[in-house]
Amino acid sequence: MPELPEVETVRRGLQPVMEGATIADVTLRRPDLRLPLPERFAERLAGRGIDHLGRRAKYLLAELDDGTTLAIHLGMSGSMRIEAADDATADARARVPGAFLFPRSTTLTHDHVVFHLKDGPSGPATIVFNDPRRFGLMTLIEPGGMETHPLFRHLGIEPTGNALSGEALARLFAGKAAPLKAALLDQRLIAGLGNIYVCEALWRARLSPRRAAGSLVTRDGKATKRLEALALSVRETIADAIAAGGSTLKDYRQADGSLGYFQHSFAVYGREGEACRHENCRGIISRIVQSGRSTFFCPICQR
Ligand SMILES: [Zn+2]
Repeated sequence: MPELPEVETVRRGLQPVMEGATIADVTLRRPDLRLPLPERFAERLAGRGIDHLGRRAKYLLAELDDGTTLAIHLGMSGSMRIEAADDATADARARVPGAFLFPRSTTLTHDHVVFHLKDGPSGPATIVFNDPRRFGLMTLIEPGGMETHPLFRHLGIEPTGNALSGEALARLFAGKAAPLKAALLDQRLIAGLGNIYVCEALWRARLSPRRAAGSLVTRDGKATKRLEALALSVRETIADAIAAGGSTLKDYRQADGSLGYFQHSFAVYGREGEACRHENCRGIISRIVQSGRSTFFCPICQR
């Protein structure tokens, strides 16, 4: 399943092709993904300019020139592929970015939605949404409707920027008896942080996933030094993964135009039974199950 850094990598790959382009038309190969597509979906998109391609949690958000937002979620297996239009110049083709990544479905029967773009900075291009398992989602949000939209109104702070500070975590964690692992995965507190990166961030900060979240907040509601360190670890973990994904975007010419997921090397996730990678730590990585998900951690240095 794509995690937030992969979604951000896809966004960065699509941005130079989509921003500033106009949607000439949209081909729908089926009426639904995880949910039915909005009524008159293709008609409502045709002729619209794309002002900005952003992201919130794991949703790609294309802001259109009539104030509507097209929200796209990749689900479990969704990917985006960029194809230069048949009549594109060689120069335009060379500028189409892509990243190869983890095995992506190339089965054309799973190409469910195709956006035909014109007048963009990279020339005419086709963006193909492929999703074998169809847990993906596309919807249209009316102007000004993000704040009250059921998919977005309960989402917590983004884990990528300065919003995720020790101070913010102190506000969110004060009085919470829930384990740190569960608190970090709670999408109402922090949006888009998944199981893998929570394990990695806790390992970096040397904090036990079982420790009560509220134990890192002082009595007067301030962040302890360890909570400040956790905020930094979360941001760095995500930033490093986004940087790793970005490096896969660099080699445009070799790319097949597909944008999906990359394999990233993890310090603790998936390493049960291996030696802890913290210098001078003799711990062996353990796996436990918390709220139905695997947690990997070092029982020696994570306290
Ligand atoms: Zn250790």
